[in-house]
Amino acid sequence: MLGRLFGIEIRLDLSVLVIFVLVAVSLASSLFPTWHPDWGPLLTWVSALAAAFIFFVSLLLHELSHSLMAKRQGIEVPRITLFLFGGMAEMSAEPKTPRAEFLVAIVGPLASFALAVAFALLASMLTPDDFMDRVVEDREGAFSALGPLATVCVWLAPVNLVLAVFNLVPGFPLDGGRVLRAFLWWWTGDLLKATRLAAMSGRVFAGALMAFGIVNLIWGRALEGIWYLVIGWFLSHIAAASYQQMLLRVALRGLVVGDLMRTHFESAEASTPLDGFIERQLLRSAQSLWPVLAHGALVGFVSQSDIARHAESERARLTVRDVMRPLAEMRVLSPTLAGPDAFEQLAAMADEPVPVLDGPALVGLLHASDIFRFLSLHRMRLAP
Ligand SMILES: [Zn+2]
Repeated sequence: MLGRLFGIEIRLDLSVLVIFVLVAVSLASSLFPTWHPDWGPLLTWVSALAAAFIFFVSLLLHELSHSLMAKRQGIEVPRITLFLFGGMAEMSAEPKTPRAEFLVAIVGPLASFALAVAFALLASMLTPDDFMDRVVEDREGAFSALGPLATVCVWLAPVNLVLAVFNLVPGFPLDGGRVLRAFLWWWTGDLLKATRLAAMSGRVFAGALMAFGIVNLIWGRALEGIWYLVIGWFLSHIAAASYQQMLLRVALRGLVVGDLMRTHFESAEASTPLDGFIERQLLRSAQSLWPVLAHGALVGFVSQSDIARHAESERARLTVRDVMRPLAEMRVLSPTLAGPDAFEQLAAMADEPVPVLDGPALVGLLHASDIFRFLSLHRMRLAP
């Protein structure tokens, strides 16, 4: 966690530090010394660190533009996470219309493009009027005349332009993929189909990048080759990881926990001797998590793993209450929680059903597999 902006939590992934160091080191050890052989190490490093820092501020502004537009469209954005050379604005819901989806997606590349123009203007104000002529005549010599601030701007302008253009590639998870999805959604009226096609296009693009990386490797251009392979792998990884989740979000739209949960389950009595509970109830049923009642009121839950913590020799002296987890220690869900949010919470939990409580009353149990079962019976088009 880095801080808050406009009520949005800003987070840094560890990978950002790695890329920050890589960018700063490559600027300080390779690019800036070629442009400015006369600079001392201190000036070179300060400029490189400043350039790398402003680069990440540029990324943050890109994500912030998505988030603020999403908020304008009525979508909450709890946090932005920056990672590698990009970021992710986590939205609490999918945009409701193709128009909203398009607007949220397009402002990011537009922000990067605006930054590119701003840095280019700043650079042109800081460079001598005949700079472009001198670049044509003598590239190295022209750059050496730039001051530190102009140097940083001259690097940041094309970098932001590349970010804008790269993000416009029409393949999910890039912004262009979302623009494509908005267009397909508007055209076909079918969000699920649009999602599938945009994701497919993203995987094709990632595959093409990796193939290009391999071609570069064969040509003996190792650095470029590895770079394209890494970006391609990263994109395909993100696409695959978020693809199912994105489809699930779409498929689960409008559903709440109450629609998905199990309502047929048995309970255990708190005062029942543990041996009796095991022999007569647990072993006779497929149910894995058992609500424990005392005088009709819910007091806790018990599962096989709770029992396994106690030696078999002890069990004769114990009751269900002795081994159960008290209600206060349980993660619970509300029956009105939206389906996509419930799925995310379940994915982060141990592989066990989660109790669904309406106030103090237990109304159901929900396991991640229940959601897949529901979808396979109602909306069977999850496969690509
Ligand atoms: Zn973006």
